[in-house]
Amino acid sequence: MKDLTRRQSLALSLAAPALALAPRPAAAKAPIQGPGAALYQRFMLGEMEVTALLSNNRTVEKPHEIFGLNASDDDFASVSAEAFLPTDKAQFFFTPTLVNTGSELVLFDTSTDPGSITAALAAAGYAPDQVDKVVLTHMHPDHIGGLMTDGAPTFANATYVTGAAEHNFWSANPSDQFTANVVPLNDRISFLDDGGTAAPGIVAMEAFGHTPGHMAFVLDSGGKVMAITGDTANHYVWSLAHPDWEVKFDADKAAAAATRRRVFGKIATDRIPFIGYHMPFPSVGYVEAQGDGFRYVPASYQLML
Ligand SMILES: [Zn+2]
Repeated sequence: MKDLTRRQSLALSLAAPALALAPRPAAAKAPIQGPGAALYQRFMLGEMEVTALLSNNRTVEKPHEIFGLNASDDDFASVSAEAFLPTDKAQFFFTPTLVNTGSELVLFDTSTDPGSITAALAAAGYAPDQVDKVVLTHMHPDHIGGLMTDGAPTFANATYVTGAAEHNFWSANPSDQFTANVVPLNDRISFLDDGGTAAPGIVAMEAFGHTPGHMAFVLDSGGKVMAITGDTANHYVWSLAHPDWEVKFDADKAAAAATRRRVFGKIATDRIPFIGYHMPFPSVGYVEAQGDGFRYVPASYQLML
Protein backbone atom coordinates (compact mmCIF):
# COMPACT_ATOMS: atom_id res chain seq x y z
CA MET A 1 0.00 0.00 0.00
CA LYS A 2 2.76 2.37 0.80
CA ASP A 3 3.98 1.99 -2.78
CA LEU A 4 0.85 3.63 -4.16
CA THR A 5 1.20 7.16 -5.32
CA ARG A 6 -0.81 9.75 -3.57
CA ARG A 7 -3.15 10.01 -6.59
CA GLN A 8 -3.74 6.24 -6.76
CA SER A 9 -4.46 6.12 -3.09
CA LEU A 10 -6.96 8.96 -3.39
CA ALA A 11 -8.67 7.26 -6.33
CA LEU A 12 -9.03 4.00 -4.40
CA SER A 13 -10.45 5.68 -1.36
CA LEU A 14 -13.03 7.54 -3.52
CA ALA A 15 -13.99 4.46 -5.51
CA ALA A 16 -14.22 1.97 -2.70
CA PRO A 17 -17.47 3.11 -1.05
CA ALA A 18 -19.28 3.22 -4.39
CA LEU A 19 -18.09 -0.26 -5.29
CA ALA A 20 -19.21 -1.53 -1.95
CA LEU A 21 -22.66 0.04 -2.22
CA ALA A 22 -23.39 -0.80 -5.85
CA PRO A 23 -21.83 -3.97 -7.16
CA ARG A 24 -22.67 -4.23 -10.84
CA PRO A 25 -22.18 -6.77 -13.63
CA ALA A 26 -19.66 -6.23 -16.39
CA ALA A 27 -20.58 -3.40 -18.78
CA ALA A 28 -23.08 -4.54 -21.43
CA LYS A 29 -21.14 -2.87 -24.21
CA ALA A 30 -24.29 -1.73 -26.01
CA PRO A 31 -23.49 -1.20 -29.67
CA ILE A 32 -23.26 2.36 -30.95
CA GLN A 33 -26.40 2.99 -33.02
CA GLY A 34 -25.24 5.88 -35.23
CA PRO A 35 -27.27 8.99 -36.00
CA GLY A 36 -31.03 8.62 -35.86
CA ALA A 37 -34.33 10.50 -35.81
CA ALA A 38 -38.05 9.79 -35.94
CA LEU A 39 -39.45 9.62 -39.47
CA TYR A 40 -42.43 11.86 -38.77
CA GLN A 41 -43.61 14.83 -36.77
CA ARG A 42 -47.31 15.47 -36.29
CA PHE A 43 -49.30 18.43 -35.08
CA MET A 44 -52.78 19.89 -35.34
CA LEU A 45 -53.68 22.89 -37.48
CA GLY A 46 -57.19 23.77 -36.41
CA GLU A 47 -59.20 20.64 -37.23
CA MET A 48 -56.55 19.27 -39.58
CA GLU A 49 -53.90 16.78 -38.54
CA VAL A 50 -50.64 17.59 -40.32
CA THR A 51 -47.74 15.11 -40.45
CA ALA A 52 -44.32 15.97 -41.85
CA LEU A 53 -42.78 12.74 -43.20
CA LEU A 54 -39.02 12.33 -43.41
CA SER A 55 -39.03 10.01 -46.40
CA ASN A 56 -35.38 10.40 -47.25
CA ASN A 57 -32.27 12.43 -46.49
CA ARG A 58 -28.74 12.37 -47.76
CA THR A 59 -25.44 14.22 -47.80
CA VAL A 60 -24.60 16.08 -51.01
CA GLU A 61 -21.08 17.28 -51.87
CA LYS A 62 -20.13 20.72 -53.19
CA PRO A 63 -23.39 22.60 -52.53
CA HIS A 64 -22.07 25.75 -54.23
CA GLU A 65 -22.43 23.85 -57.50
CA ILE A 66 -26.19 23.76 -56.75
CA PHE A 67 -26.95 26.93 -54.73
CA GLY A 68 -25.69 30.45 -55.39
CA LEU A 69 -24.52 29.78 -58.94
CA ASN A 70 -24.31 33.54 -59.43
CA ALA A 71 -22.56 34.16 -56.07
CA SER A 72 -18.77 34.31 -55.76
CA ASP A 73 -16.89 31.65 -53.78
CA ASP A 74 -16.06 34.34 -51.21
CA ASP A 75 -19.70 35.39 -50.78
CA PHE A 76 -20.85 31.78 -50.58
CA ALA A 77 -18.17 31.06 -47.97
CA SER A 78 -18.92 34.10 -45.81
CA VAL A 79 -22.70 33.63 -45.89
CA SER A 80 -22.24 29.97 -44.98
CA ALA A 81 -19.77 30.73 -42.18
CA GLU A 82 -22.14 33.30 -40.69
CA ALA A 83 -24.81 30.58 -40.55
CA PHE A 84 -22.39 27.97 -39.11
CA LEU A 85 -22.70 25.89 -42.29
CA PRO A 86 -19.87 24.04 -44.03
CA THR A 87 -19.35 24.66 -47.75
CA ASP A 88 -17.99 21.26 -48.75
CA LYS A 89 -21.22 19.34 -48.14
CA ALA A 90 -24.88 19.81 -47.27
CA GLN A 91 -27.68 17.61 -45.97
CA PHE A 92 -30.74 17.29 -48.22
CA PHE A 93 -34.11 16.35 -46.74
CA PHE A 94 -37.19 15.03 -48.57
CA THR A 95 -40.36 15.81 -46.66
CA PRO A 96 -43.76 14.87 -48.09
CA THR A 97 -46.63 16.20 -45.97
CA LEU A 98 -49.68 14.18 -44.96
CA VAL A 99 -52.86 16.09 -44.10
CA ASN A 100 -55.85 14.37 -42.54
CA THR A 101 -58.72 16.81 -43.00
CA GLY A 102 -61.05 14.57 -41.02
CA SER A 103 -62.82 13.49 -44.21
CA GLU A 104 -59.85 12.94 -46.53
CA LEU A 105 -56.24 11.78 -46.15
CA VAL A 106 -54.19 13.98 -48.49
CA LEU A 107 -50.52 13.33 -49.29
CA PHE A 108 -48.41 16.15 -50.74
CA ASP A 109 -45.63 14.68 -52.93
CA THR A 110 -44.31 11.13 -52.79
CA SER A 111 -40.53 11.06 -52.18
CA THR A 112 -37.83 9.61 -54.38
CA ASP A 113 -39.11 6.04 -54.41
CA PRO A 114 -42.05 3.99 -53.10
CA GLY A 115 -40.10 2.23 -50.32
CA SER A 116 -39.09 5.45 -48.58
CA ILE A 117 -42.54 7.04 -48.61
CA THR A 118 -44.34 3.90 -47.45
CA ALA A 119 -41.78 3.44 -44.64
CA ALA A 120 -42.33 7.00 -43.40
CA LEU A 121 -46.11 6.59 -43.72
CA ALA A 122 -45.95 3.36 -41.70
CA ALA A 123 -43.89 5.07 -38.99
CA ALA A 124 -46.65 7.69 -38.78
CA GLY A 125 -49.33 5.00 -38.48
CA TYR A 126 -50.81 5.06 -41.98
CA ALA A 127 -50.97 2.53 -44.81
CA PRO A 128 -50.66 3.55 -48.49
CA ASP A 129 -54.18 2.37 -49.32
CA GLN A 130 -55.60 4.84 -46.77
CA VAL A 131 -54.41 7.81 -48.87
CA ASP A 132 -57.44 9.34 -50.60
CA LYS A 133 -55.69 12.01 -52.60
CA VAL A 134 -52.13 12.68 -53.74
CA VAL A 135 -51.31 16.31 -54.49
CA LEU A 136 -48.18 16.90 -56.59
CA THR A 137 -46.42 20.26 -56.29
CA HIS A 138 -44.43 19.46 -59.42
CA MET A 139 -43.04 16.59 -61.48
CA HIS A 140 -39.37 16.33 -60.48
CA PRO A 141 -38.22 12.77 -59.70
CA ASP A 142 -37.88 13.35 -55.95
CA HIS A 143 -41.59 14.29 -55.80
CA ILE A 144 -43.16 11.72 -58.15
CA GLY A 145 -40.75 8.86 -57.40
CA GLY A 146 -43.10 7.09 -54.99
CA LEU A 147 -46.22 7.08 -57.17
CA MET A 148 -45.76 3.60 -58.67
CA THR A 149 -44.53 0.31 -57.18
CA ASP A 150 -43.48 -2.31 -59.72
CA GLY A 151 -45.82 -0.83 -62.33
CA ALA A 152 -48.86 -0.51 -60.04
CA PRO A 153 -50.08 2.58 -58.17
CA THR A 154 -48.52 2.74 -54.68
CA PHE A 155 -51.62 4.48 -53.34
CA ALA A 156 -54.23 2.06 -54.65
CA ASN A 157 -57.31 4.09 -53.67
CA ALA A 158 -56.05 7.59 -54.42
CA THR A 159 -57.03 10.23 -56.91
CA TYR A 160 -54.47 12.86 -57.90
CA VAL A 161 -54.32 16.65 -58.12
CA THR A 162 -51.67 18.80 -59.75
CA GLY A 163 -51.17 22.10 -61.54
CA ALA A 164 -52.55 22.21 -65.07
CA ALA A 165 -49.52 24.11 -66.38
CA GLU A 166 -47.16 21.60 -64.76
CA HIS A 167 -48.87 18.60 -66.31
CA ASN A 168 -49.08 20.33 -69.69
CA PHE A 169 -45.36 21.06 -69.66
CA TRP A 170 -44.28 17.51 -68.86
CA SER A 171 -46.82 16.05 -71.29
CA ALA A 172 -45.10 18.06 -74.03
CA ASN A 173 -41.59 17.36 -72.64
CA PRO A 174 -41.85 13.97 -70.95
CA SER A 175 -39.06 12.77 -68.68
CA ASP A 176 -38.61 9.03 -68.16
CA GLN A 177 -40.00 9.41 -64.64
CA PHE A 178 -43.09 11.29 -65.88
CA THR A 179 -43.76 8.61 -68.50
CA ALA A 180 -43.33 5.78 -66.00
CA ASN A 181 -45.02 7.27 -62.93
CA VAL A 182 -47.52 9.94 -64.00
CA VAL A 183 -48.83 9.00 -67.45
CA PRO A 184 -50.34 5.69 -66.20
CA LEU A 185 -52.36 7.71 -63.67
CA ASN A 186 -53.57 10.37 -66.12
CA ASP A 187 -57.23 9.37 -66.04
CA ARG A 188 -57.27 9.76 -62.24
CA ILE A 189 -55.68 13.24 -62.20
CA SER A 190 -57.60 16.49 -61.84
CA PHE A 191 -55.96 19.82 -62.58
CA LEU A 192 -56.00 23.20 -60.93
CA ASP A 193 -54.73 26.74 -61.45
CA ASP A 194 -53.93 29.57 -59.01
CA GLY A 195 -56.66 29.71 -56.36
CA GLY A 196 -57.98 26.23 -57.17
CA THR A 197 -59.17 23.97 -54.37
CA ALA A 198 -57.30 20.67 -53.91
CA ALA A 199 -59.56 19.60 -51.04
CA PRO A 200 -61.80 21.51 -48.61
CA GLY A 201 -59.54 24.05 -46.84
CA ILE A 202 -56.60 23.44 -49.21
CA VAL A 203 -56.06 26.09 -51.90
CA ALA A 204 -53.39 26.19 -54.62
CA MET A 205 -51.03 29.12 -55.05
CA GLU A 206 -49.11 29.61 -58.31
CA ALA A 207 -45.37 29.33 -57.63
CA PHE A 208 -43.89 28.99 -61.11
CA GLY A 209 -40.16 29.06 -61.79
CA HIS A 210 -38.64 25.99 -60.13
CA THR A 211 -40.63 24.18 -62.80
CA PRO A 212 -43.02 25.77 -65.33
CA GLY A 213 -46.16 24.90 -63.34
CA HIS A 214 -44.87 24.42 -59.77
CA MET A 215 -47.64 24.98 -57.19
CA ALA A 216 -47.62 25.84 -53.48
CA PHE A 217 -50.66 25.27 -51.25
CA VAL A 218 -52.30 27.00 -48.30
CA LEU A 219 -54.05 25.03 -45.55
CA ASP A 220 -56.80 26.82 -43.65
CA SER A 221 -58.64 25.17 -40.76
CA GLY A 222 -60.33 26.43 -37.63
CA GLY A 223 -58.77 29.88 -38.01
CA LYS A 224 -55.24 28.45 -38.41
CA VAL A 225 -53.31 28.85 -41.66
CA MET A 226 -50.10 27.35 -42.95
CA ALA A 227 -48.39 26.98 -46.32
CA ILE A 228 -46.87 24.01 -48.08
CA THR A 229 -44.23 25.54 -50.30
CA GLY A 230 -42.77 22.50 -52.07
CA ASP A 231 -39.57 23.54 -53.83
CA THR A 232 -40.23 27.30 -53.93
CA ALA A 233 -37.07 27.63 -51.78
CA ASN A 234 -34.78 24.68 -51.21
CA HIS A 235 -32.32 25.90 -48.59
CA TYR A 236 -33.04 27.90 -45.46
CA VAL A 237 -29.99 30.13 -45.91
CA TRP A 238 -28.76 29.88 -49.49
CA SER A 239 -32.27 30.39 -50.91
CA LEU A 240 -34.36 32.10 -48.23
CA ALA A 241 -31.76 34.62 -47.06
CA HIS A 242 -30.65 35.14 -50.67
CA PRO A 243 -33.71 34.68 -52.89
CA ASP A 244 -31.83 35.87 -55.98
CA TRP A 245 -29.07 33.30 -55.62
CA GLU A 246 -29.54 31.01 -58.61
CA VAL A 247 -30.32 27.34 -58.00
CA LYS A 248 -29.20 24.65 -60.42
CA PHE A 249 -32.58 22.89 -60.30
CA ASP A 250 -34.69 25.99 -60.99
CA ALA A 251 -35.86 25.77 -64.61
CA ASP A 252 -36.42 29.54 -64.97
CA LYS A 253 -33.99 31.15 -62.52
CA ALA A 254 -35.39 34.69 -62.72
CA ALA A 255 -38.99 33.50 -62.34
CA ALA A 256 -38.01 31.25 -59.43
CA ALA A 257 -36.34 34.18 -57.64
CA ALA A 258 -39.37 36.44 -58.19
CA THR A 259 -41.64 33.65 -56.92
CA ARG A 260 -39.50 33.19 -53.78
CA ARG A 261 -39.87 36.91 -53.03
CA ARG A 262 -43.63 36.90 -53.62
CA VAL A 263 -44.52 33.65 -51.82
CA PHE A 264 -42.24 34.12 -48.81
CA GLY A 265 -43.05 37.83 -48.71
CA LYS A 266 -46.67 36.85 -48.14
CA ILE A 267 -45.76 34.16 -45.60
CA ALA A 268 -43.62 36.73 -43.74
CA THR A 269 -46.35 39.37 -43.82
CA ASP A 270 -49.01 36.93 -42.64
CA ARG A 271 -46.60 35.43 -40.04
CA ILE A 272 -47.84 31.92 -40.82
CA PRO A 273 -45.80 28.70 -40.59
CA PHE A 274 -44.82 26.74 -43.68
CA ILE A 275 -43.46 23.32 -44.55
CA GLY A 276 -40.68 23.35 -47.16
CA TYR A 277 -40.01 19.99 -48.81
CA HIS A 278 -36.22 20.30 -48.54
CA MET A 279 -35.92 22.32 -45.32
CA PRO A 280 -34.11 20.63 -42.39
CA PHE A 281 -36.53 18.10 -40.91
CA PRO A 282 -39.20 18.49 -39.58
CA SER A 283 -39.09 21.16 -42.26
CA VAL A 284 -41.53 23.49 -40.48
CA GLY A 285 -40.68 27.11 -39.87
CA TYR A 286 -41.41 30.79 -40.21
CA VAL A 287 -39.76 33.62 -42.12
CA GLU A 288 -39.41 37.31 -41.52
CA ALA A 289 -38.10 39.88 -43.97
CA GLN A 290 -34.47 40.67 -43.20
CA GLY A 291 -31.78 42.35 -45.30
CA ASP A 292 -32.21 41.42 -48.94
CA GLY A 293 -34.21 38.29 -48.16
CA PHE A 294 -35.70 36.32 -45.31
CA ARG A 295 -34.56 35.03 -41.94
CA TYR A 296 -35.69 31.44 -41.39
CA VAL A 297 -36.92 30.60 -37.90
CA PRO A 298 -37.43 26.87 -37.35
CA ALA A 299 -40.66 26.06 -35.53
CA SER A 300 -40.12 25.04 -31.92
CA TYR A 301 -43.27 24.39 -29.87
CA GLN A 302 -45.65 26.88 -31.48
CA LEU A 303 -47.65 24.16 -33.24
CA MET A 304 -47.93 22.04 -30.10
CA LEU A 305 -49.93 24.74 -28.29
ZN1 LIG B 1 -37.42 18.62 -54.80
